[in-house]
Amino acid sequence: MTTVLITGANRGIGLELTRHYAGEGATVHACCRTPSEARELSGIAGSVHIHQLDTTDHGRLGELAKEISEPIDIVIANAGIYGLPDEDQSFEKVSAENLSRTLEVNLTGTVETLRAFLPHARRSEGKKLVAITSKMGSIADASQGAVAYRVSKTALNMAMTCAAAELKGEGIAVGTLHPGWVRTDMGGPNGNISPEESAKGLAKVIEGLKPSDKATFTSFSGEDLPW
Ligand code: NDP
Repeated sequence: MTTVLITGANRGIGLELTRHYAGEGATVHACCRTPSEARELSGIAGSVHIHQLDTTDHGRLGELAKEISEPIDIVIANAGIYGLPDEDQSFEKVSAENLSRTLEVNLTGTVETLRAFLPHARRSEGKKLVAITSKMGSIADASQGAVAYRVSKTALNMAMTCAAAELKGEGIAVGTLHPGWVRTDMGGPNGNISPEESAKGLAKVIEGLKPSDKATFTSFSGEDLPW
């Protein structure tokens, strides 16, 4: 039976990934900052274990890695922020605080999550590490605005590229995946796809991931994206 760990599982894409994998019969370790408020997540049927985790709390990450002793086939670091709420993210106006906090969550929190559960992936059959990144981190595709968010995802993409090369020899597959423009709190109501469509597509791409030192940056629909 497949075991999956997902961060930011209380809403948006993380919630739908949890619903998807639980529906497939997987055991899901669903992590969120405030389990007492995660009503939708608590209502998902199946083998879902809810854990408290703020991905920027390194002490808690270490504790949780010890609490979960079983192998984890697929580790999905999904939690992320667009930046500090209601702040101008133009190059001229983006604040140092916004840059630091967005990097702390989207880069450091994501990398630390994947590193904390690397031993669990190593012991598993599936051996997959996945970061949910964004097309907005693509330098080839860049334009103005959203500087803190874009920079954090570009940096994450590089970290994942290094991870792919480093871990290939151990048979660990690394996914750097764009979920599409999704109708969530972050994506807003005009997104192209629902969280369900995104989660289904991401799960299909994750199923096909293979260890490779040529890291790929792939969308939920399986399309390779330019770095
Ligand atoms: P939402 O804003 O809907 O949800 C974000 C999730 O991340 C929430 O569960 C939130 O928890 C969690 N989170 C934020 N900060 C932390 C933290 N420090 N520790 C733990 N959890 C945290 O976003 P989406 O579901 O849309 O986005 C999920 C991922 O997909 C993100 O990485 C995002 O960058 C990426 N993405 C989304 C796109 C879209 O169109 N929606 C497009 C491209 C990429 P809480 O409820 O406690 O705040």
